[in-house]
Amino acid sequence: MAVMDLYDVTVIGAGPAGLSAALYAARARLKTLVLDKMGPGGTIANVDFLENYPGFAQGITGPELGVAMQQQAEKFGAEFAFREVQGVRRGEDDLLLLATAEGDISSRTVIVATGSEPRKLGVPGEGEFTGRGVSYCATCDGAFYRDKRVVVVGGGDSAITEALFLTRFASRVIVVHRRDQLRATKVLQDRAFANDKIDFEWNAVVKSVLGEDKVERVLLGDVRDGTEREVACDGVFVYIGNDPNTAFLRGSGVDLDDRGYIPTDERMRSNIPGLWAAGDVRAKSLRQVVTAVADGAVAAVDAEEYISQRWGH
Ligand code: NAP
Repeated sequence: MAVMDLYDVTVIGAGPAGLSAALYAARARLKTLVLDKMGPGGTIANVDFLENYPGFAQGITGPELGVAMQQQAEKFGAEFAFREVQGVRRGEDDLLLLATAEGDISSRTVIVATGSEPRKLGVPGEGEFTGRGVSYCATCDGAFYRDKRVVVVGGGDSAITEALFLTRFASRVIVVHRRDQLRATKVLQDRAFANDKIDFEWNAVVKSVLGEDKVERVLLGDVRDGTEREVACDGVFVYIGNDPNTAFLRGSGVDLDDRGYIPTDERMRSNIPGLWAAGDVRAKSLRQVVTAVADGAVAAVDAEEYISQRWGH
């Protein structure tokens, strides 16, 4: 589609936060554009099943929810374009300019909903074997590990959710966690402990990923006494948290916290007038679809108020 010269609201990121912001902005009759370098859904596009999004008692897949949210925003007139935003700066007349490879996009307001991406282990072999046994997406790659042994690294909700998912395929799932207690919510812990395909390597970290052409084993280090041992496996799924996608904002004047998240007030306003943050990219405590969509709605409603005060929409 042709991107027009001036938008009221430009949303960067088509995950739940961005799609909800777009729905609220478009429904308020603001000229709304959503930019994403990939398709709709954001992080949930790789989620096999969501069972804690209210209203779906039987659960819903991530892609289904993402597509439904996009359709709902489109129904009210939101436009979508595949574009990667490289930077944001202030232009004339208080407008914000979004730099893309295809040229600048002008917008009265910007809602940053770029989410986060999986954190890397940063150990030898991880990069070399990515796509050849090392993965950050069980939904994408799990089926390759039918009757194989896989290691899942991490102890949070993601690691345990994906470890449980992988038991559908793998013969053995070994969860490697750096402490002796999981961080994951209790219901997930109970399921994991009850699943006889899942083993735990407690107080352990992956020191390197080893193999010839593909992953064959990992070297684990005991965090208490430093002893090392090798564990044979065919795949390594890494779920040790996420880092926010805010690198493109460096030099833009948008404040970031020490981990790169965007601090906001309760209306999702950043330190830059006209720029809001919503969803996982925001500094906050609970990162769930339900809080992402709430952030998006709050940001869009505040953006509408800002536009009407400034430009009399
Ligand atoms: P997380 O909650 O930050 O957990 C990361 C896990 O990785 C922790 O167990 C942490 O250990 C471990 N870890 C971190 N850095 C490590 C390193 N360098 N080496 C080894 N282990 C490391 O991340 P997440 O599980 O991806 O979840 C992110 C957010 O999404 C959370 O808010 C979560 O609740 C949410 N989420 C929710 C659901 C759901 O509701 N079903 C599903 C997925 C994700 P420690 O425990 O020792 O810190």
